[in-house]
Amino acid sequence: MSEPVKQARGTVFVRSEVCKGCSYCIDFCPSHCIEFSREFNAKGYHFPVLARPEDCSGCDMCGNYCPDFAIFGMRLKDLEARKNAKAGTMPPAAKAG
Ligand code: SF4
Ligand code: SF4
Repeated sequence: MSEPVKQARGTVFVRSEVCKGCSYCIDFCPSHCIEFSREFNAKGYHFPVLARPEDCSGCDMCGNYCPDFAIFGMRLKDLEARKNAKAGTMPPAAKAG
């Protein structure tokens, strides 16, 4: 029997050109789901990428520790609510009520 597929609960947004490669985000991520990319940004630093998206909770601990506001995490349900608000539609729970 195959293992159930783990569903991601969050994601991250990275401003790779602002990153200084300090690794705080990687060190403080409680889910160990971000790693340095192999690529360099224009300043010559490796920047973080979401290596294991299924493990991200969207807790934004990475964003809280980044001194340069180069990364932030978001819960997928909050991201969806934001998209619905932008599109002028109500989230499903509000529609039902
Ligand atoms: S949002 Fe939380 S779980 Fe996701 S990468 Fe950032 S610190 Fe890790
Ligand atoms: S904490 Fe910020 S500056 Fe440091 S590696 Fe992560 S994204 Fe880059």
